[in-house]
Formats: sequence, C-alpha cells, structure tokens
Amino acid sequence: MEDQLEYLVTKSDFILPGLVIFLLVFWAGFALLGFSLFKVITGAANFFFDRYILFVYQLNYQERASLEYKIPFYQNLKPSLKRKFECNVKYFIQKKDFEGRDGCTVTPEMKLLIAAAATQISFGHFPTIYEHFRKIIIYPDKYFSGSTQRYHLGEVQSNGVIKLSWAAFTEGLRIKNDGVHVGFHEMAHALKIEDSTLHDMEHCFMDKKALHDFHSYSNDRIRSHGSQSFMRDYAFSNSEEFFAVSIEYFFETPAQLRKNEPVVYDYLTRILKLDPLNHTNPVLT
Ligand SMILES: [Zn+2]
Repeated sequence: MEDQLEYLVTKSDFILPGLVIFLLVFWAGFALLGFSLFKVITGAANFFFDRYILFVYQLNYQERASLEYKIPFYQNLKPSLKRKFECNVKYFIQKKDFEGRDGCTVTPEMKLLIAAAATQISFGHFPTIYEHFRKIIIYPDKYFSGSTQRYHLGEVQSNGVIKLSWAAFTEGLRIKNDGVHVGFHEMAHALKIEDSTLHDMEHCFMDKKALHDFHSYSNDRIRSHGSQSFMRDYAFSNSEEFFAVSIEYFFETPAQLRKNEPVVYDYLTRILKLDPLNHTNPVLT
C-alpha cells in the first residue's frame, strides 16, 4: 500500500511539467500552422492583386514610346519587367492629384515622367504608389517657400504633398550622368516617409536592418566628412539628405558609386531590392 502511494506521489511530480510541455508544444504547433496559413493567404492575395493591377493599369502606345525615349532604366528592362513598370506608372498617375502653380499647366507628359521617377526608385518593391502622398504640386521653376523663407527646387511634406520645380526636374532628366536628379531626390524622401507610415499595402517594406545600418554608416560619414568626396557636399547635410542624394547617384552613375562608395551601394541594393547595374533584370529577390 505504501509502495503504491509512493509510486503515485512520484508519478504526480511528472504530471504537471508534462502537461505544461504538452501545452507549449501544442500552442507552438498551432501558432506555426496559423503563421504558415497567414503567409500562404497573403502570398496568394498579393499574387492575384499583382495580376489584377497588371490587367487594369496599362499605358497606351504613345506613353510607352515616351518612356522608351526618355527613361533609360525602362528602356533596358526585359519585356516582363517593362510591363510591370508601365503598370506602376499608370497606377501612380491614377491615384494622384496633380496641380500646377505659378502659371504651370500640368500635361500628361509631366505626370508620366514624374510617375516614372517614383516607379524607378521603388521598383524593387512593386507595386508602390506612395499611398501617403495624395497631391503633387508642380511649379514652372524654383519657388519661394513661406515656411523656410528660401527658394526650393523640390520638397516633400509629411502632410502628403510633394512639390517639384519642373525646370529642375527636366534638367535632372536631361543630364543623365551627373548624379543630380531632383525627381529621384524628392521621391527618395517620400519613399522613406511611406515606409514609416502605416498603410495596408505599403508599410515597412524596406529591409529594417539595412536601413538602420545605412543611417549609422551615413552618420559616421557625416561626422568625418572632409573636403574630398565622390558625392556632392549636400549629401553630408544630414542622414536623410545622405540617403536621398545617394539614391540620385545610385541610378545616374551606379558604376561610379559602386567603385567610390561600395558600402553605400551595397546598402542601397538591399534597401531598394534593386541593382541598377543589372540593366535587363535589376530587381533582386
Ligand atoms: Zn532633400
């Protein structure tokens, strides 16, 4: 009798830990199954959404010809990526309110080229339409800002407005290899804000670690900045400007940026999921 009692007491010592382990394994398995199911469902939803917008948002012949003539990044893409690029451009145009100021009349060509700049820098995260930004205001030339009391060539406001000087924008397009492109610059600021603003589709799409490391690195570079640098001095104003300016060089002079600023180049390929030196297929998976 005593032996039996001792046996039961000994056995009960194992019942509770056993039950706890069982429950932990059960819930871990349940959570894993739920997570896998979530991944499968979101993967399928993204797949069908991409197919849907590729079908709905299409450029006409004239618009495609204009991209072919003016946007080297698009010109070099393989056909399937060209199709995606066109879709993103059209989708972007449809979702934005374009407004001309100081006598600027907004033309379809302006919308197309601004949308192309936005699409190019975010192409590794297709589709991206900068949902936070509803309005794009275009000035004929530099404009005076009441808030900074200075003249600007472009500006991104956290209230969802992007401002651009058309003269500066077209100059950036015209000279393709000087590392200056106000369209890329302002869209780079907008992309950073988009990434940090909560939307269903567009939130935290950039690699968090690469972004964090990029900013640590840029802060070090800014602190130790001397007179000699591959990128223009404006990049060293602060970490956000370093990001925006480096994106201008990344797309305008990728080979030179990789040679002179290999760390910056590497971080940008990871953040944007693009390698512009791979002309036909720049999207990294
Ligand atoms: Zn800037």
